[in-house]
Amino acid sequence: MPAPLNLVASSPALPAEADVVIIGGGIIGCFTAYYLAKRGVKVALIEKGLIGAEQSSRNWGWCRQQNRDARELPMATKSLDLWEQFTAETGEETGFNRCGLLYLSDNEEEIATWAKWGVFAGEVGVETYMLTTEQTAERGRATGRSWRGGVYSPTDGSADPSLAAPAVARAIMKAGGTVHQNCAVRGLETEGGRLSGVITEHGPIRTRSAVLAAGAWASSFCHQYGIRFPQATIRQSAVRIAPGDNQHIPPAIHTDKISMTRRTDGAYNLSISGYGRVDPTPQFFRFSTQFLPMFLRRWRKLAPGGLEGVRSGHETLSRWRLDRPTPMEHMRILDPTPDPRAVRLLRERADSLMPELATRPITHKWAGYVDSTPDGVPGIGEIESLPGLVLAAGFSGHGFGIGPGAGHMIADMVSGATPLVDPKPYHPSRFSKSAWGKVAEF
Ligand SMILES: Cc1cc2nc3c(=O)[nH]c(=O)nc-3n(C[C@H](O)[C@H](O)[C@H](O)COP(=O)(O)OP(=O)(O)OC[C@H]3O[C@@H](n4cnc5c(N)ncnc54)[C@H](O)[C@@H]3O)c2cc1C
Repeated sequence: MPAPLNLVASSPALPAEADVVIIGGGIIGCFTAYYLAKRGVKVALIEKGLIGAEQSSRNWGWCRQQNRDARELPMATKSLDLWEQFTAETGEETGFNRCGLLYLSDNEEEIATWAKWGVFAGEVGVETYMLTTEQTAERGRATGRSWRGGVYSPTDGSADPSLAAPAVARAIMKAGGTVHQNCAVRGLETEGGRLSGVITEHGPIRTRSAVLAAGAWASSFCHQYGIRFPQATIRQSAVRIAPGDNQHIPPAIHTDKISMTRRTDGAYNLSISGYGRVDPTPQFFRFSTQFLPMFLRRWRKLAPGGLEGVRSGHETLSRWRLDRPTPMEHMRILDPTPDPRAVRLLRERADSLMPELATRPITHKWAGYVDSTPDGVPGIGEIESLPGLVLAAGFSGHGFGIGPGAGHMIADMVSGATPLVDPKPYHPSRFSKSAWGKVAEF
């Protein structure tokens, strides 16, 4: 079975016009639409498949400041507050709680990197504690051993990916916005060089403002308009282990071997950080030089994949017509095959590292295409060559936790309000300036 997902009903009719159209109903598109609807903007959220069905329901659910790139930290801190506020102001449940995140390691170099980050975090007021060997034995006692070192961030937390995007979609509709599923945006219309509308498979919507929050599909969509957005996707696998007693297992724990997150029903989602398959596609070859530093840094955990990426169509370089079904309609939900080797490793490592899990069966397994940029920070900003179009993609394996902050900031930009955080570090124009950016990794 793929990743669990709550379903949400669509709005009855597609509007003929809107102040803002959001393309893509993942966590980013949903929160952007929510913050726009809340301030009375007429917003329509268009999703080709189901709300949250791609990356946004397939992730671990970690909402963290810990080990964040300095550019993203202010947004991560604000997002934690916004996750709390969202449930308080809408009554919608996302499963968010500040359960604290625990990292354990035997690798001196990794521990030193965490310590260095901790000094920086302290300077900007983020609470995080380096752990001694004794403290790792106490906090990580479910593993039955001690570790050379670790770090604990008590104010970080997790939300439930099966609940979050659908909860936000319901809140959009309550606030006056509309949500349309099984409706792909095929393309854009312009007048005098500025955006004037979007063309969906069910008809056009007149608008002067659109946000492309299309996740793994963003680059091929941009390509239709000559916009170069370097993006690569990596296929990462995850499993869910049945609910159980969980006497000693922390709610969220990361080790080099395995990372685990408790879900609201007591089940655990398991994954191996950074471990994935690279499915070669035309887009992969197009941007490969820009991604080389990232691939080199992660080569131990990446393996070549197969033709699945080509078959999925999200990284095509072909141009499509607006009067015929597009690749987005052929692939309503990207549901890539979980890597059997990763699933086997997850089972073995869970059994040896967390004996409490050994008797519990795997109930779900899935994979997701993580969409990345060359420097591991998303591309967010208005496209200079197409005024009216704002790109918001490339969240590089850590966009779920910052979904509320990113959505708020994008809504601010689009509606002319003071941005929640400085949007400049995110602008996609940086990709044209340097091919060799600093690489971050989830
Ligand atoms: C295994 C795994 C673990 C992860 N763990 C974490 C974590 O613990 N914490 C964290 O912060 N992040 C994590 N991530 C990353 C996180 O899931 C993503 O960064 C985030 O969900 C991206 O959200 P999004 O809205 O940009 O994209 P998506 O959720 O992929 O949504 C994009 C949506 O756009 C739709 N779409 C595309 N094109 C069109 C079109 N033309 N018309 C209409 N709709 C369209 C798609 O159908 C899709 O639903 C993880 C990811 C994976 C796969």
